Amino acid sequence: MMHGGGWWSYLSYDEEQEPPKVDRALLRRVWSYGRPYLRGLIGVMFTIFVISGLGVVPPLIIRELVDVALPEKDLGMLTVLGLGMIGVPLISALVGILQRWWTSRVGEGIIFDLRRELFDHLQRMSLRFFTATKTGELMNRLNSDVTGAQQAITGTLVSIVSNIVSVMAILIVMFDAEWRLTLLAVAALPLFVIPARRVAKVLRQVTQDQMEHNASMSAILQEAFNVSGALLIRLFGRWDHESRRFADQAALVRDYGVRRAMVGRRFFAALGLVSAFGTAAVFWVGGFMVIQDEITLGTLVMFSALLTQLYGPLSAITNSRVEFATSLVSFERVFEVLDLETDVPDPEQPIPISPAKGKVEFSDVYFRYQSDEVEGLEAVKRWRRTADAGPVVPQASTREWALEDVSFVAAPGELVALVGPSGAGKTTTSYLVPRLYDVNQGVVAIDGVDVRRIPFEELAATVGVVTQETYLFHDTIEANLRYARPDAGRSEIEAAARAANIHDMISALPEGYQTLVGERGYRLSGGEKQRIAIARVILKDPRVLILDEATSHLDSRSEALIQEALEKLMAGRTTLAIAHRLSTVRAAHQIIVIDEGRVVEQGTHETLVAHDGLYRQLYETQFETVA
Ligand code: ADP
Repeated sequence: MMHGGGWWSYLSYDEEQEPPKVDRALLRRVWSYGRPYLRGLIGVMFTIFVISGLGVVPPLIIRELVDVALPEKDLGMLTVLGLGMIGVPLISALVGILQRWWTSRVGEGIIFDLRRELFDHLQRMSLRFFTATKTGELMNRLNSDVTGAQQAITGTLVSIVSNIVSVMAILIVMFDAEWRLTLLAVAALPLFVIPARRVAKVLRQVTQDQMEHNASMSAILQEAFNVSGALLIRLFGRWDHESRRFADQAALVRDYGVRRAMVGRRFFAALGLVSAFGTAAVFWVGGFMVIQDEITLGTLVMFSALLTQLYGPLSAITNSRVEFATSLVSFERVFEVLDLETDVPDPEQPIPISPAKGKVEFSDVYFRYQSDEVEGLEAVKRWRRTADAGPVVPQASTREWALEDVSFVAAPGELVALVGPSGAGKTTTSYLVPRLYDVNQGVVAIDGVDVRRIPFEELAATVGVVTQETYLFHDTIEANLRYARPDAGRSEIEAAARAANIHDMISALPEGYQTLVGERGYRLSGGEKQRIAIARVILKDPRVLILDEATSHLDSRSEALIQEALEKLMAGRTTLAIAHRLSTVRAAHQIIVIDEGRVVEQGTHETLVAHDGLYRQLYETQFETVA
């Protein structure tokens, strides 16, 4: 129905759809973000009372003007009333500035709190989460949704309270002046309470949909415009495809925007009519009463002035459910993220291991990249929206377990080489030690302590990783190195770089260690990046080293530099190496041969070569060429 013809098609959005309820728990939680700003909020309330109270003064002044000053030709009073007409808005404006100051402080404070909490929480999520979630989606939650959430507290709250207070003040003055006319003016309004409730529901749903589409649009942007994505698009010439993909999503955002704008329009139109009828009725009956001398002309004029002020806030109040419900959507989306549990939780009763000796032990380890449980942000969203649509479809997998019954021990200081065909499970094995993932069964232990019991900071300090792909932040080389140890002195950094055979290269750069690197900085070659990564881990000085040897063949000089750097790095540390070089397997104290997720052979190079098995085969086909 979204493309169903003209504007009228937008008027009848499926109003029967049942969105999630606004429950007490949600409200309490939302309130917990406002509470730290209680003083600011009280200040805001104070200004609301002042401004709303002042709102009824001008009509009162008008009545005095018409009923007293003019008939009695009292020039002095006329002047006073005139000054009042200037003074009231002046004070209102000044208090308005104060209100603005308080609301923005509360609002921005809440944004800050939410952002920080989200960031802290997301940082703790596992690798599994980040592989299952689009970066753009996350950015969206940290930006638009957080902003929307603060709008709920400041914007909506201020408008609801302002309106209520205004209406009360106006009604009091009106009732005091002529209660029958007042009843006449508001008689039809109760009729609108029930439709308002329905409109609120629908609007909330549409808003939620719109935000989801917005988030998807951000995700596409992020994918297309980061350096790797842009490169890929260019190399494959897929501009049209990407443009279409983006346009499709942007079109959804557009349509939902229109839809949102149109929700409840019939309702609001009807509400507008009621105020017109109300005003007409008041003029007619009120005029009659003036003619009958039941009320003064001033009262009627005051009524008409008050009426124009009344209907706006009154319909806004009937509508406040709608507004409030809408603004809660952002909070819900933020809470959704905060409620995601990390599947690599902090240990409840941590066991410290430092100073670690560095024994690494796998006992009967089973691991699976399962996705039969809810994973990532998109999945959460899907799950919330269509709870009865069945579980999220599991990812297709060639075999049930990525690792099955894997056991081995690396004694402190030993070099253990993991070898096996591609897809065997070597990388997966290496991921389990620093807890990028947790095992499904069995135990991975360091110094006899289950890694799941080791405090995160200690685990991170104990295990160092050199991957094939080196990620550098957009910062200076020095800062990138210092990331491993923030308190490292300049001489230590240089020593590490020397050990990694990269110092000379860095020194030769015009800006030396201050050269900016990273995605948008100086382009280091693959081999140089590798050596920076090695220097970084040397600085960190972990007891256990996970090493994923590069498969891409570098030139022999680069190879030799890296090889030498690695040897220095591995010396004295327990090393788990995903080995591609003959020199590494030769030097290994033991070689673990993995195939299809299982350990199929185990031993030293000599014993394994003597045995006619998978290792021998790999040795003949893979390693010889690299040597
Ligand atoms: P290797 O490092 O030996 O080449 P991996 O440990 O990378 O092998 O992969 C082992 C198996 O796990 C492969 O079948 C691979 O397809 C699968 N796998 C790896 N990463 C994931 C992931 N994030 N989600 C699902 N399956 C994965």
